[in-house]
Amino acid sequence: MTTISHHLHAVLDRIAQACVRAQRDPASVSLLAVSKTFGPEAVAEAAAAGQRAFGENYIQEAVDKMAALRTQALPPLEWHCIGPIQSNKTRLVAEHFDWVHTVDRPKIAERLSAQRPAHCPPLQVCIQVNVDGGPTKAGVAPEAALDLVRAVAALPGLRVRGLMSIPDHAPDFEAQLAVHMAAKRLFDQIRSAALPGLAHFDTLSLGMTADLEAAIQAGSTLVRVGTGIFGGRSMPGA
Ligand SMILES: *Cc1c(COP(=O)(O)O)cnc(C)c1O
Repeated sequence: MTTISHHLHAVLDRIAQACVRAQRDPASVSLLAVSKTFGPEAVAEAAAAGQRAFGENYIQEAVDKMAALRTQALPPLEWHCIGPIQSNKTRLVAEHFDWVHTVDRPKIAERLSAQRPAHCPPLQVCIQVNVDGGPTKAGVAPEAALDLVRAVAALPGLRVRGLMSIPDHAPDFEAQLAVHMAAKRLFDQIRSAALPGLAHFDTLSLGMTADLEAAIQAGSTLVRVGTGIFGGRSMPGA
């Protein structure tokens, strides 16, 4: 086994064990492998080990990586944009990604919808919610999430799938659980509002390498793991 394959299986074990502790079906949690700053060879190795969904933060880096991977005989991969999106990058996102987790304002959603190519299925969207931070942090305020979900549900090029959040580092399991539970409550509230266009609202994108157990305990359906699979990143702040 390669190192990446070994780490990938260790992360899948952590997910399975967390599901047992939370009394959840392991099939209800999926793994997004966050390959930002790692090259196409790392993605190819994870794909050879069975991983299909990859998350990227930097749009141009991701598009270059996808192009490099197209020359290889890999099974179809699913690409998730999990980084902040500036207006001038929406076209690349709309043209190249399958999912976006970081929609936090109507203007970005409208551009993504308008720029989604007609031959592609709708772009799958999670609304990024700022569950624990101040006004400068990315993500829509929890009070404004329902309105944004409603607006995105009305856009033809997008399909609203759920919520995503990136809480600040919390010191222990209980603190991680408390903040993830706030996202879960909001998710349940929005789902129970039974809005039109929410038939596919089934995804709660919560948890990373350091806090995936707490996220799964809280109800995450998709954990985003980079370091745990690919190792430490050399780029500061990445
Ligand atoms: C980098 C990143 C991750 C992965 O973080 P790790 O701690 O390396 O697992 C997950 N989600 C987002 C939004 C990220 O930017």
